Amino acid sequence: MMENSSVELSVEQRKSIFDENFADIKNRIAKAAVKSGKKPDDILFLAATKTIDVEVINHAISCGLPAVGENKVQEFLSKIDFLSDKAQRHFIGHLQSNKAKDIVGKVSLIHSVHSVKLARVIGDLSVKKGIVTDILLEVNIGNEESKSGFSANEVLDSLIEISKIDGVFVRGLMTIPPICDNLSKNRAYFKEMYNLFLDIQSKKIDNSSMEYLSMGMSNDFEVAIEEGANIVRIGTALFGKRNYNF
Ligand SMILES: *Cc1c(COP(=O)(O)O)cnc(C)c1O
Repeated sequence: MMENSSVELSVEQRKSIFDENFADIKNRIAKAAVKSGKKPDDILFLAATKTIDVEVINHAISCGLPAVGENKVQEFLSKIDFLSDKAQRHFIGHLQSNKAKDIVGKVSLIHSVHSVKLARVIGDLSVKKGIVTDILLEVNIGNEESKSGFSANEVLDSLIEISKIDGVFVRGLMTIPPICDNLSKNRAYFKEMYNLFLDIQSKKIDNSSMEYLSMGMSNDFEVAIEEGANIVRIGTALFGKRNYNF
């Protein structure tokens, strides 16, 4: 048989990959939750749906997937009118300030707020719409040049500043740790995030709450949950390898 390196799967193939994986991943999430002293329902199973057809996403939602997250504004907008309203919609990717206007009011949680400036833009847009937008602060836990996000050292001060901005409400933290081939390294980053999360939680900053810790993807979601994550963002393990590199 020929090796096919560029995966081009049809909608039907994607749906059946989802069908094969969904129950298994739910089980693995539940087990990891129990292992960390939580209930399965304490963990939000969010599907990272970039490059995945709306038809496949809606199939997943009809099977009980509770939340979906897109990471490009353009792609999100192209899907939104066709997307089932039975799942929460989150924005999980890098957000430029000038694109915030396109998603404010359309998502229930923005995971990826990486600067006070961006929080201010989201806040202003939200006030104009008469809403409050729930956000997470993205932490660049590995201090990587290539990634945006607050450093662990600055996140508390930034939260204090952001908590004073009308129109946004910080609900927790999010991170994408460095790509590691070694799960014990990821575990160390997740532990560091959880400690930061608890530390900030203990400060009880007004007009904010530390409820959500969004971390863990296809390769490491169980480890993330064991270390305190309560939102996991899973793409490949659910829908198979993406059709093109992203
Ligand atoms: C794509 C993506 C994920 C999921 O990645 P997988 O490895 O495919 O599970 C999670 N978080 C963000 C921000 C992403 O862009």
